[in-house]
Amino acid sequence: MYSTDDLKKWDKNYIWHPFTQMTDWADSDPPVIERGEGFYLIDTEGKRYIDGVSSLWVLVHGHGRKELTDAIERQSKQLCHSTLLGLANVPSTVLARKLVDIVPRGLKKVFYSDNGSTSVEIAVKMSYQYWQQKGEKKRKRFISFTNGYHGDTIGSVSIGGIDIFHKVYGPLLFRSIKAPSPYCYRCPLKLERSSCGMACVAHFEEIVKKHRDEACAVVIEPLVQGAGGMITQPQGFLNRVWQIAKENGLHFITDEVATGFGRTGTMFACEQEKVKPDFICMAKGITGGYLPLAATVTTDEIFSGFLGRFDEFKTFFHGHTYTGNPLACAVAVENLKLFEKERVIEKMADKIALLRNELARFEELPFVGEVRQRGFMVGIELVRSRKTKRPFPAGEKIGQKVVAEARKQGVIIRPLGDVIVLMPPPAIDAPTLKELVNVTYEAVKKATGA
Ligand SMILES: *Cc1c(COP(=O)(O)O)cnc(C)c1O
Repeated sequence: MYSTDDLKKWDKNYIWHPFTQMTDWADSDPPVIERGEGFYLIDTEGKRYIDGVSSLWVLVHGHGRKELTDAIERQSKQLCHSTLLGLANVPSTVLARKLVDIVPRGLKKVFYSDNGSTSVEIAVKMSYQYWQQKGEKKRKRFISFTNGYHGDTIGSVSIGGIDIFHKVYGPLLFRSIKAPSPYCYRCPLKLERSSCGMACVAHFEEIVKKHRDEACAVVIEPLVQGAGGMITQPQGFLNRVWQIAKENGLHFITDEVATGFGRTGTMFACEQEKVKPDFICMAKGITGGYLPLAATVTTDEIFSGFLGRFDEFKTFFHGHTYTGNPLACAVAVENLKLFEKERVIEKMADKIALLRNELARFEELPFVGEVRQRGFMVGIELVRSRKTKRPFPAGEKIGQKVVAEARKQGVIIRPLGDVIVLMPPPAIDAPTLKELVNVTYEAVKKATGA
């Protein structure tokens, strides 16, 4: 056993944390998480916290679920890893078949990797190479959205649209074409949702028409732009954008890394607008939060564009060491079985309504600009002035203050700038869900001095 003090000291000495200003980290006193139990995380001193963001959007059925840990244990005794280069393995095969069953119709080929960024990177490379091999050599560009987030590798950053994350890397990136984000609260076209007639779609259509001969694909996070601030899209937006992409002959890549596996109230967000993409990228919820795994699922049409004689070199020259890892695939299979067995999606409907009710009172708080919800994806945008929508000065770190207050009360949540994110696990029970919202409400009140 290590003492908590030693662990904290070693963490500060040796670990560089992701997306973290390490100057602030050095002065902070974060808990050291040791265990998980259901929808709670427990630190080395025994303090319990509700896992309010599903351990960064991955947890589905709760921590320590026996069916899931058993699946890992069983598989670990059989085989922990073997490569998909030149060999098949049991769990990756079983999982691929199951995935094809649950994604929108027409998506039939599964390419594995191990995180969300690579799942998107793979779709981008496949789309580009498909067109190259079709002889459409001019197609080299991708159309994506401002405020979009697709991961942190150079390719996925190239199609991302969050300036503070991406700006410094500008010279290293390939240039993508950006359509305006459907961020209605701060409309980039300066319009009002009640009267705009979704002018952003017309704008998008113009962009597509202008670039239709040099573009490979449109890339989008369906229904909700997650890391961009839990920006929920108006009803019908996704379907229109998909139609326009198709009318103009472009591939449609949906990045469901965040929205997949129940987060928006359906297995995949695409379903809600009857969208059938050419590529669906998935990661976060795929193993229920137990092991890293990702998949890019595409159509026979795309797949067939890579077929040919060996010496034509139409092969998709891409793969990762742990592609199709049996342990991760085995727990992903069990994750999907639990979805079915416990009717997780069906049972979400009432809890989504409950969450909506519970969130209503945030609107009355003086520093809450907007509350956005799609299923279990929630963003509470804090503002200095509700009238002018003026944000808090960045130096005030208002988001971090709310998160710190919530932690004192036994809830782990994360900010995205001034947007407080709630992303509870799809299988969470109603009382814990209520408690999560209550604590968040008090934390917002306290941190903003309302
Ligand atoms: C988290 C996320 C990614 C990146 O996934 P990683 O596993 O962190 O690489 C990509 N796209 C979306 C929409 C995400 O939310």
